[in-house]
Amino acid sequence: MRAVTAQPASPGALFPLVPRAGRGRRAGPERAGVCGYDPSMAGEPQADCLFCKIVAGDVPATVVHETETTLAFRDINPQAPTHVLVIPRAHYADAAALTDAEPTVAADVVRAAGRVAEQEGAVESGYRIVFNTGAGAGQTVFHAHAHVLAGRGLNWPPG
Ligand code: 5GP
Ligand code: ZN
Repeated sequence: MRAVTAQPASPGALFPLVPRAGRGRRAGPERAGVCGYDPSMAGEPQADCLFCKIVAGDVPATVVHETETTLAFRDINPQAPTHVLVIPRAHYADAAALTDAEPTVAADVVRAAGRVAEQEGAVESGYRIVFNTGAGAGQTVFHAHAHVLAGRGLNWPPG
């Protein structure tokens, strides 16, 4: 069962996971070998991907916002009073691969991050959108995602 706090129905019910045809171009060969990620499968659900499982409803998450192309849910290990992850429903290893293949969906992710910040009452105080990209920058889940952080002082430069 998934905990859904801000939506009347599960994401899968509103926006069922359906195969997509005629999508943007595949990630290029420069993406090959990123943590075992197969770029030929870009945009398709990955059986071993945690966030694809959340999109499919197979792993529970506290969903706070969703659109046809995106899903936003609370981070399981929050680093701020507001810590929400915004992901594309389609699987791409990171934000750059997503933007290469589906720039409109990348824009949808950033737009959704702004909506989440509004919902969280974080616009006036300010918030941070972070795309950790690559293991060296702290990326641990290789399905593109934006962290939306707010509700405390956010130092710069970040750690
Ligand atoms: P990354 O380190 O890749 O930038 O961010 C991945 C985020 O996913 C981390 O902040 C981590 O706490 C979060 N995370 C890992 N496993 C789960 C999970 O099962 N559910 C949720 N909601 N968040 C998770
Ligand atoms: Zn995925």
